[in-house]
Amino acid sequence: MRALGDHVRAMIAHEGPITVERYISLCLSHYYATRDPLGAAGDFTTAPEISQMFGELIGLWMLEVWNAMGRPAPVHLVELGPGRGTLMADLLRATKLLPDFGAAVEVHLVETSPVLRQRQQATLASSGPPVQWHARLEDVPEGPMLLVANEFFDALPVRQFLATERGWCERLVGLDGDRLIFGLRGEADEALGRPLRIGDVLEWPVASLEVMHELSRRLARDTGAILAIDYGYWGPAFGDTLQALKKHTPVDPLQDPGGADLTTHVDFQRLAQVASTLGLRVHGLGTQRDFLLALGVEARAASLKKRASPAQSAEIDAALARLTERGDKGMGDLFKVLAVTHKDLEAVPGLPPRPLAP
Ligand code: SAH
Repeated sequence: MRALGDHVRAMIAHEGPITVERYISLCLSHYYATRDPLGAAGDFTTAPEISQMFGELIGLWMLEVWNAMGRPAPVHLVELGPGRGTLMADLLRATKLLPDFGAAVEVHLVETSPVLRQRQQATLASSGPPVQWHARLEDVPEGPMLLVANEFFDALPVRQFLATERGWCERLVGLDGDRLIFGLRGEADEALGRPLRIGDVLEWPVASLEVMHELSRRLARDTGAILAIDYGYWGPAFGDTLQALKKHTPVDPLQDPGGADLTTHVDFQRLAQVASTLGLRVHGLGTQRDFLLALGVEARAASLKKRASPAQSAEIDAALARLTERGDKGMGDLFKVLAVTHKDLEAVPGLPPRPLAP
């Protein structure tokens, strides 16, 4: 951990300030490569780690969409950033309801972290269909695809710009003595036009837009659907959403480079726009709460409770409440769900369709 901080400081001392995007990218590659950050003992907890119901319902979603696609075989079931492999394991178990799906499916996991890959291998060892790992989405073979990404886009680096009298100036990370500090590039970025309000912060998710472009190109050509779930909003909106978390507590993003999780909120409108421009259909945005309720999370909880001890029943109730909690601190409202499909897939479970872009 110390080593990365020293490396970043030496780099800045040598080359000058770096962009926020570069800083996030350096920190997160180190962070994810060196640990399993999930769960109570880690830095943050995700929905699949809270309850098996989350992955199971996404499995049922995949089955319905596969049916609507006309049951192509083979079909690539892809996950971006699969963490411990928990979501995929729960998803695959639920899809055993339809053995034809299991026979058609090839699982592709896109994961950069060697530590988490090992975790995923252990979790998925007896899950059924063949599983392949890839470092980049580009390496996943092309063909009809069903894809899920939970808390993936929020882990990709963004550029940040601040609205000043001079125009939009890129935020940088520099040094004050031995301390990392935020700064600004002197020159404004002319391509971004004139800001309306001084002090606004614009986040530009370069990496997420590239991923979305590649996914959309594939969906338009080969058909399929993607489901993205993340802490985010329907933009445009201005604000600095860069956050660092360590041991479930917010910390200063510059304090411990590579030792804390860094995230930004996802602007789903920008992602959807890439898809619409390439002729795809967008479904949602919905909240995680509405999505899970529409897919029958309450019925699933009730059925799990039939075979549960009183202590397990209490855990199922607590998990259900947490996944669907309302309000500005509740996971059910904070997390949003977006689906993108080939234009011929007119509806998906749990999300309202949007009209096709003209
Ligand atoms: N989806 C999981 C984990 C979310 S954490 C869950 O919900 O529990 C983010 C995941 O994305 C981790 O598995 C991390 O290693 C992976 N990741 C982060 N940046 C990545 C990148 N650029 N390419 C591929 N995977 C990445």
